[in-house]
Amino acid sequence: NRQMTLAARPVGTPGAEHFALKTTPVSSIVEGQLLLRTVYLSLDPYMRGRMSDADSYADPVAIGGVMVGGTINRVVASRHPDYREGDWVLSYGVGWQDYGVSDGSFLFKLDPAQAPVSHALGVLGMPGFTAFMGLMDIGQPKAGETLVVAAATGPVGATVAQIGKIMGCRVVAIAGSDEKCRVAREELGADVALNHKASDFEQQLAAACPNGIDIYFENVGGRVLKAVLPLLNAKARIPLCGTVSNYNASALPQGPDHLDWAWSTILTKRATVKGFIIFDDYGHRYGEFAKQMGQWVSEGKIHYLEQIVDGLENAPEALKGLLEGKNFGKLVIRVGED
Ligand code: NDP
Repeated sequence: NRQMTLAARPVGTPGAEHFALKTTPVSSIVEGQLLLRTVYLSLDPYMRGRMSDADSYADPVAIGGVMVGGTINRVVASRHPDYREGDWVLSYGVGWQDYGVSDGSFLFKLDPAQAPVSHALGVLGMPGFTAFMGLMDIGQPKAGETLVVAAATGPVGATVAQIGKIMGCRVVAIAGSDEKCRVAREELGADVALNHKASDFEQQLAAACPNGIDIYFENVGGRVLKAVLPLLNAKARIPLCGTVSNYNASALPQGPDHLDWAWSTILTKRATVKGFIIFDDYGHRYGEFAKQMGQWVSEGKIHYLEQIVDGLENAPEALKGLLEGKNFGKLVIRVGED
């Protein structure tokens, strides 16, 4: 059983030196347990937070511990009444390793006939749920409003952009390359897509939002946030979902302090800013999401972008790339054969 463990806590960008690949014997199971084999591992920005012992909403991974994460597994052996050998499951208890033992908690059965099983790590799972609740409950989209979302080809942003179109919004997508922008327009249906690395990005954003911004779905912070704030309309809504541009930061940014300016902008625009942690705040509404998203996906109204990288040994490098925008769509590691 190969296990990717946390070897050291990174300061700044995580790299290979912060991980160690260990091999342990595969555990045996007792009555009430199942043995799971990992096929897909989800990589997500929050994993950078689990590598750090800074104060957070969740506990850090211990040094020497197996990295946490959502996985799609096959049941190899079962002594649990609800599962049989061969079943597909989504697990939050196995993490970055080939095999895990479960007692049935944090486990959800999947039907491979309904959708490719890996989609339960993206549009039909946690990131899709995040996009759905953040936009619908906090963003409160109305037809004709302008919605801005960055990381727009990632699983959260791409879903936000497409729900925004379903709700009749004008969608301004922001992404980190011209190719990502093309896909945001042509495959996700964004009205405009802008590259946040362009030297005149701020001017491009202002030109793309002639009626101001009603909803800013916050995934990234940084330069994009600073460009958005002056364009907010009165009563704008900001679902505060993530600030990935600073996840690798080890110190406060240098240069002028924008905090007071941002704070008073929120006041004068009478904007609503609401942070949320998806399962903590909305876990009780998962059924509502699953029903609606399942319908939209099966009707072809929501398009899903996924990037699969082979090999558990490549997960550390892929996680580093995710935080730098090297992924294109939902990043998934193929750990083992179907
Ligand atoms: P993505 O697959 O979209 O990956 C992150 C993306 O962020 C990168 O691909 C990159 O896209 C973009 N990015 C990285 N650095 C910068 C930067 N400096 N400026 C602008 N964009 C940058 O991830 P997810 O869809 O999984 O997650 C999106 C956000 O949602 C994250 O902030 C994540 O932490 C948050 N999240 C929050 C949850 C909650 O409960 N609150 C739950 C799930 C996710 P590009 O190349 O386009 O710039």
